[in-house]
Amino acid sequence: MSGMDDGWKDAADFGDELPFGNFEDGSGTKQAYANDDVVGNCPVCGAHIVAREKGFLCNNMECRFGLWKNNRFFEAIGKEMTREVADELLNCGTVKLDGCKSKRTGNSFNCYVDLTVDEEQRPHFEIRFPQRKKKEGE
Ligand SMILES: [Zn+2]
Repeated sequence: MSGMDDGWKDAADFGDELPFGNFEDGSGTKQAYANDDVVGNCPVCGAHIVAREKGFLCNNMECRFGLWKNNRFFEAIGKEMTREVADELLNCGTVKLDGCKSKRTGNSFNCYVDLTVDEEQRPHFEIRFPQRKKKEGE
């Protein structure tokens, strides 16, 4: 039964930080995106990873995680960070890449690329070669 607490307190106190939020787009997120653009969830913070022009980026403004299309690692093996690749990495933590070509040696190879996240919340990629089992109906 306070009655003094709400409503009438100096409205001026709120200044620019209106407590009612910003209803401009009604979503509460800073950057709008379509459901179709959601590739997966951020391995760092769990927010949506959204397909953008430059890559697949976490929609959490405070999170640095993103899979950039301009990617030296993938460039070096003759591959691109496509949506399919980003999707596999985010949802499985690994992606199988056939027909890679080493920029340095020119060798072609197939490999898996594993995604991990370093302390700086940046993606780290690691090549893993498939285990050669005996013959499995290849
Ligand atoms: Zn994130």
